[in-house]
Amino acid sequence: MSSQNPVFIPGPTNIPERLRHAVNVPTIDHRSASFGEIFAPLFPGVKRVLKMREGEVFFFPATGTAGWEAAVSNTLSPGDKVLACRHGMFSHRWIDLCQRHGLDVQVLTAPWGAGAPAADFQAALEADKDHEIKAVLVTHNETATGVRSDIGAVRKALDAAGHPALLMVDGVSSIASMDFRMGEWGVDLAVTGSQKGFMLPAGLAIVGVSPKALAAMETAKLPRTFLDFRDMLNTNPKGGFPYTPPVGLLYGLGVALSMIEEEGLENVFARHYRIAEGIRQAVGAWGLSLCAQSPDVYSDTVSAVMVPSGFDGTKVVTLAAEKYGTAFGVGLGDVAGKLFRIGHLGSLTDVMALSGVACAEMCMADLGMPIKLGSGVAAAQEHYRATAGAAAETSHAA
Ligand SMILES: *Cc1c(COP(=O)(O)O)cnc(C)c1O
Repeated sequence: MSSQNPVFIPGPTNIPERLRHAVNVPTIDHRSASFGEIFAPLFPGVKRVLKMREGEVFFFPATGTAGWEAAVSNTLSPGDKVLACRHGMFSHRWIDLCQRHGLDVQVLTAPWGAGAPAADFQAALEADKDHEIKAVLVTHNETATGVRSDIGAVRKALDAAGHPALLMVDGVSSIASMDFRMGEWGVDLAVTGSQKGFMLPAGLAIVGVSPKALAAMETAKLPRTFLDFRDMLNTNPKGGFPYTPPVGLLYGLGVALSMIEEEGLENVFARHYRIAEGIRQAVGAWGLSLCAQSPDVYSDTVSAVMVPSGFDGTKVVTLAAEKYGTAFGVGLGDVAGKLFRIGHLGSLTDVMALSGVACAEMCMADLGMPIKLGSGVAAAQEHYRATAGAAAETSHAA
């Protein structure tokens, strides 16, 4: 693997030079006032990215998986019923985590490539007359299939059913890259991590929590210690942490938030859309299709490209690594071998994206797939030429 090439895995993402330097901080006493100065601005900064109207944000020295666990263990009790949809590897893993916590998971299924089915959620919630379902879990961006689900529609399903369950959303591969409206969508727990849209190394789980979820915390009986929101509430407002904080990452997050604000949050989303659209044009020019079933569910952070039948998508990834020193994502679970994934989130420019399209073309041609060299590159170039401009002036990723 070449350290000079950008990565095209959907997380961890490319770390811009400014953030690589930012996380390199000397040891400071985390009980001193200096820590509070680094820590305090992160709360309003993350709340703006999540578009929260009220509630709290917590940071744990962990990854997104711990964010799932924090959401569940702080608000639910053993045996509680939760409703979730399995339509990819990440939604599957969150369901597995709930089951291992002794929760009773009602699993809805959708094809891998489809979004979370709001109508099925509504039917299940309407059938739950006694309100036994305590939480609804949705994966905003299913990283395994490149599918974005409509969280606003799931909110409407809850409201239409008049159901009081908490709405928990995995936004690990969408938050800070695709529009996320915690307040407007009535999300009670939003989970993300540092190594995707925030462009940092792995090591921070970030959880947005609504007042309703904070109230549920008071009676929740699942065991938690390291991930206990209450210990955060008791220390964070005074500039403290319940144990040793990862100061370098927190400092880096402050700089990442500045970079996002300098570019403009909406411009960040627009850049992700533009870059994703160029990749999608390339996939179309190759004569291939995406795992995502229709444009309304296309993800702007990862594209899962179906390989022609008779070919193995994993071989594209292996060849890219071995021959060209470049990383793409493999197919996971039900779609293993059937596709390869191009991650296009975080710090990325048109020029970087074009190199990924070119590399994927070389690998597919090497494997004997019927791909014309340059076809996808040309399609992406046309898209970037036609749409570059205002966004280029604000791009920070240079
Ligand atoms: C990356 C990711 C996670 C969490 O993974 P970690 O490796 O624990 O950070 C969870 N959900 C989705 C959708 C992801 O893309």
